[in-house]
Amino acid sequence: MKMKNPVVGIGSCLMGQPVRYSGDSKRKNNHIERLKGHIKLNSFCPEMAIGMGVPRQTVRLVGEIGKTRLMDSKTQTEDFTAPMKAYAAVVIDNNPNLSGYILVKGSPSCGYERVKRYNDLGNMSASDEMGMFAAELHRKDPLLPMEEDGRLNDDVLRENFISRVYAYDRWKKFKAGGVSHKGLLDFWARYKYQVMAHRISSYKTIGQLLANANGQTIEIVAEEFISLLMQSLKALATRKSHANVLEHIRGYLKKKLDANDKAELGALITQYRDGIVPLVVPLTLLRHHFKRHQNPYIEKQVFLLPYPEELSLRNRI
Ligand code: SF4
Repeated sequence: MKMKNPVVGIGSCLMGQPVRYSGDSKRKNNHIERLKGHIKLNSFCPEMAIGMGVPRQTVRLVGEIGKTRLMDSKTQTEDFTAPMKAYAAVVIDNNPNLSGYILVKGSPSCGYERVKRYNDLGNMSASDEMGMFAAELHRKDPLLPMEEDGRLNDDVLRENFISRVYAYDRWKKFKAGGVSHKGLLDFWARYKYQVMAHRISSYKTIGQLLANANGQTIEIVAEEFISLLMQSLKALATRKSHANVLEHIRGYLKKKLDANDKAELGALITQYRDGIVPLVVPLTLLRHHFKRHQNPYIEKQVFLLPYPEELSLRNRI
């Protein structure tokens, strides 16, 4: 049975809906368009949802960092903070299968980072906050992968975000079936090389957590496990760390390949590490060899296929 696509929240204005304060939408982002068909995009406009209407007055973040309020820009007297926070809680509570969120650059409600902040006199003091809605989403579900439209134009950030979306979606589906010690070990076995590519220290920490889990409440271990896993996947993998994992996996073919095949695979991994070919090139050859020399442990590694190949994300990193 085909698994349901992951569900990702997105600002309605990025989906072409005329919900911005001016009655416009944002220009379409081709990278977001390409996700359709593989990821279900559920759109939300928090400013519309709290009844601000369109066209509407603009809002801004006002106050000290960490204590900002969402106020009308003109007079800084009308406070939208409480309804905006309440709406973010509704989105999280009503969408338990949400596995990621695409935010909107610069928005005082939906911005991911570096949103402008003003002081009580109306002077801009810094660009260092998350939008009010985005910050509350993050507070309610700190593991939810988030990215903003502008940053999705970066190949490495986009690949990282999508691989985290698929990881969180797999976790939610796994958890819905009931968490067991064996299930947790199996989930981890599939993610070992993926985590190794992102943060090698987490590879050891997660292994130790599960090795010492006997006798502990499984739900507590599971929460710690997924927290470590999602944090580690957020670290950006590099050509060097990916090449290290490719070499580890190549080791499983040591006694299976002849000298020519070994040399060809080794050369492609080196070319990848040196920036000459993208990751998909050595990976395709690896997968080809494992079709002929089957290995159940390697075949289940998420590292080999973290998301559908048609997304073509590893052609660019
Ligand atoms: S940035 Fe957020 S609040 Fe503003 S129009 Fe887009 S979805 Fe609505």
